[in-house]
Amino acid sequence: MKILVINCGSSSLKYQLINTETNTADAVGLCERIGIDGRIKHTPANGEKVVKEESMPTHERAVELVIEALTDKEVGVISSLDEIDAVGHRVVHGGEKFAKSTIITDEVMQAIEECNDLAPLHNPANLIGINACKKLMPNVPMVAVFDTAFHQTMPSKAYLYGLPYEYYEKYGIRRYGFHGTSHSYVSNRTYEVAGLDKDNSKVIVCHLGNGASITAVLNGESVDTSMGMTPLEGLIMGTRSGDIDPAIIEYIMKKENKNIDEVQNILNKESGVYGLSGVSSDFRDLTQASEEGNERAKIALEVYSYHVAKYIGSYVAAMNGVDAIAFTAGIGENDELVRRDVCSYLGYLGINIDLEKNDSREDEMIISTPDSKVKVCVIATNEELAIARETVALI
Ligand code: ADP
Repeated sequence: MKILVINCGSSSLKYQLINTETNTADAVGLCERIGIDGRIKHTPANGEKVVKEESMPTHERAVELVIEALTDKEVGVISSLDEIDAVGHRVVHGGEKFAKSTIITDEVMQAIEECNDLAPLHNPANLIGINACKKLMPNVPMVAVFDTAFHQTMPSKAYLYGLPYEYYEKYGIRRYGFHGTSHSYVSNRTYEVAGLDKDNSKVIVCHLGNGASITAVLNGESVDTSMGMTPLEGLIMGTRSGDIDPAIIEYIMKKENKNIDEVQNILNKESGVYGLSGVSSDFRDLTQASEEGNERAKIALEVYSYHVAKYIGSYVAAMNGVDAIAFTAGIGENDELVRRDVCSYLGYLGINIDLEKNDSREDEMIISTPDSKVKVCVIATNEELAIARETVALI
């Protein structure tokens, strides 16, 4: 089947046409600067990337241009729209309403809209993308795949905050967790790669990208995860602070004479390893700066690995053990130094890393030694393929 996977942001729209027989993308692309001016980057699997400046006042126009690119005589990969069997939409927040992916109906659209408050930057944009696709492809089935759904199995002891209970009841203030599609995909691959029985397994998935989260997966279900009601909680990230003492917010507001929006912006965009180092949010830049003697870059990297190791430790406690730890996403898949540093804290678990293997690059590999008590894996995540598969399963 051919599934169009759409990840729609407020001014951008990423797409992939996934062939679920070959598990590969026939084409990938990105519409940028929607509502500003507009640019489409389209790369067919067997061809060169083409970049076109095109006026994109609306998301609907962007979807139109995606369809044009996919069916184009030269750079297209299908001859007509009829070849698209379904569209899978990434939706960031499903609140407590969605514990799994679902076919999109009017009721589902309404329920997604009711979650807008929980993800004001993302959900409205996701809905705009769905509406644009529905208009242009009225007869094609559409599926919503939620970042939060995989974590709906968390027990209340993991998702409740120590706040007045009425805030949970009235406003839904609780841990939801994100990157669920990735955590689900990577944990499933880990059972295969590490030779585990899913129904009798304890896996910790470290999704370390620009945004980063760690999940404890017990017998195939998420039982705890580091991101919270929003993607700001948990690990220190590229530009996000992760966990901080909540009293710091008021303290910064007073000291720096800033309002709450300005402080939120600092926590989301000017913190993390970027804020600590003053160098970059990109780990390639940080490693280089650290090797050149930049002390703050070195400290930022140390703080990062230390936090990852602390979360792993807490999830070993939550599950009373661990069989396998999987590293994924941009940093998890590519940064052997972070993996080495994180694992250097885990000797107490009987973990041994094969340093040569850790330095190599493969989409899926075991980097622990055969005598290591816990298997440590690197698994390349593929959220688009996971969304396409969920879509096929539902249609
Ligand atoms: P997201 O999808 O959250 O935007 P990714 O999972 O693509 O992020 O991760 C992007 C990050 O991965 C980059 O900011 C960079 O820090 C890191 N990264 C990518 N490639 C490498 C590499 N070769 N070595 C070290 N870090 C890398």
